[in-house]
Amino acid sequence: MADKSFFIDTSKCTACRGCQIACKQWNKLSTEKTVNGGSHQNPPDLSTNTYKLVRFSEEEVNGKPVWYFFAEQCRHCLEPPCKETADSMVKGAIIKDEATGAVLFTEKTKKLKAQEVITACPYNIPRLDKSTKKLAKCTMCFDRVKNGLLPACVKTCPSGTMSFGDRQEILAKARKRLDEVKGKYPKADILDADDVRVIYLVLNDRQKYYKFASKKEVGLSRQAALKKLLKPLSQVTAAAALVGGMIKKVD
Ligand code: SF4
Ligand code: SF4
Repeated sequence: MADKSFFIDTSKCTACRGCQIACKQWNKLSTEKTVNGGSHQNPPDLSTNTYKLVRFSEEEVNGKPVWYFFAEQCRHCLEPPCKETADSMVKGAIIKDEATGAVLFTEKTKKLKAQEVITACPYNIPRLDKSTKKLAKCTMCFDRVKNGLLPACVKTCPSGTMSFGDRQEILAKARKRLDEVKGKYPKADILDADDVRVIYLVLNDRQKYYKFASKKEVGLSRQAALKKLLKPLSQVTAAAALVGGMIKKVD
């Protein structure tokens, strides 16, 4: 099975939230108490029962409201900082399926220092279930994908916002669509495509309208996770050097 990716074309999203419901239904995630935050965004944030959330923001242009909708989920990073951080604590707690690239949280996440994993994610995705101590997030609907089905959110999307398929085809589709919208929306962009498997096309500033971390913040977060991964290796090297030195002395 080939390397997979999503393309989420926010220019087509109508915020129907069918993807949110399909995600809950397929993954058997319960409803939760919510609050009115002044928009139709509901619930207010991702949680252990909400792996997919359509975020809302708006601005006024010439006296008229313009809405931006953003279907948030785990990006299934190519080099996932959550996994790099988890590997330095408990091997196998977070795994990456080599065939599809899906990043999967296992039962063993309850043995991790959860806050470290949460902090490592550049997109603020993992959520901690306080009762089970496990971390949770989008699974790429791995159980569906490995059986040749589309992820539930993609399958249900009626507006053509979401696509899923072989990475190279998805990348080509994203770039083609960007060329199409760039004339009307000069600030349009596809975000972090070289680093993630969930590729968003947005029409305006990533931070202001989509609550998306800046490129710089994402880069710093990735570097910090990598340093953590390399630390145990440098400790092994230092210990080996020390032992080597001791052996020399004995000689
Ligand atoms: Fe939810 Fe599956 Fe879509 Fe992930 S891929 S957001 S688990 S429906
Ligand atoms: Fe891990 Fe966050 Fe990347 Fe998802 S978006 S793979 S949780 S680092």
